[in-house]
Amino acid sequence: MTIRLVLAWLHLVALAIGVGGVWSRARALRDSLRDPEDPRAIRRALVGDAWWGIAAALWLITGLWRLIGGTEKSTSYYFGNHAFMLKMGLFLCILGLEIWPMMTLMRWRSAKALPNPRDAGRIEVISYLECVLVIGMVLAAVSMARGYGSTSSIGSTSNSDAVSADAPSDSLFPAPLPSGSEVATPEDISLLEHEIAMPLDGVDPAKLRSNFDERRGGGTRRHEALDIMAGRRTPVKSAVQGRLLKLFTSAAGGLMVYAADSSERFICMYAHLDGYAPGLREGAQLTRGQVIGYVGSTGNASANAPHLHFAIARSADVKRWSKGKPIDPLPVLRAASAQR
Ligand SMILES: [Zn+2]
Repeated sequence: MTIRLVLAWLHLVALAIGVGGVWSRARALRDSLRDPEDPRAIRRALVGDAWWGIAAALWLITGLWRLIGGTEKSTSYYFGNHAFMLKMGLFLCILGLEIWPMMTLMRWRSAKALPNPRDAGRIEVISYLECVLVIGMVLAAVSMARGYGSTSSIGSTSNSDAVSADAPSDSLFPAPLPSGSEVATPEDISLLEHEIAMPLDGVDPAKLRSNFDERRGGGTRRHEALDIMAGRRTPVKSAVQGRLLKLFTSAAGGLMVYAADSSERFICMYAHLDGYAPGLREGAQLTRGQVIGYVGSTGNASANAPHLHFAIARSADVKRWSKGKPIDPLPVLRAASAQR
């Protein structure tokens, strides 16, 4: 928690230092054009440039730490996010723009070359341009924090705008035929009760409260899942024997696993994962209790309340892994644990 906070803080402090630095560099260079006899303007430009450099170093260190160190979201989350890719694109533009001014100012500083109005004017313009690009990066960063930029908007199985996916083709076992119905019959439910187990160890379903009917998204939709609070990195186990349908990332659900049960009538969905179990592949057979990932807070979960969002849907055809009619997981889990 502390390191996350410090890194986020330094990343933002670098923004203030960097914009201030590059802006004052531009202003000082403009002053130097007005009064070429005054050496103080160039000195101020070099000071602004030094702060701009310090900010760049701070950005790189904190940014890479957050990206690779996994202090926020997983690395794969970032690379699947359009807003993040835009932010990196702008960053590369600034880097490219800065090469020539950096070299030139280094020569001025070491007195290998004398400041001249033509170069000063160019660096002034480049500096303002870099300011604008930094402000664009802030917009991309804020969009990312607000959940924009991911490939789909929501994790709920009842959501209609989830993208359709190719059927997993590398399964060793022929899949049962689609049942063609999203209606869960009493037989279906009793089958599931025999098959299912709690996806987290040491959690007693009798002690959980159903939050299936809670309103979410500002009252616009039903939750239609079970939230189970657990410590970050608690192993998440496959609740059923079956087949992994889809590894998916969305703004709301974060890192998710969609898996069919052995009858291929139900789809289990696990969301907000901190990461996937190593070697997890779409189409792979799953045994009940097999670790598939780890509890986290990716997507729209609060960072200080990691939990597993566990949903079950009756599916007409598991090839359409994002579709189905959600059922409340809690009564099924309770019945299953009472039977054992
Ligand atoms: Zn939830």
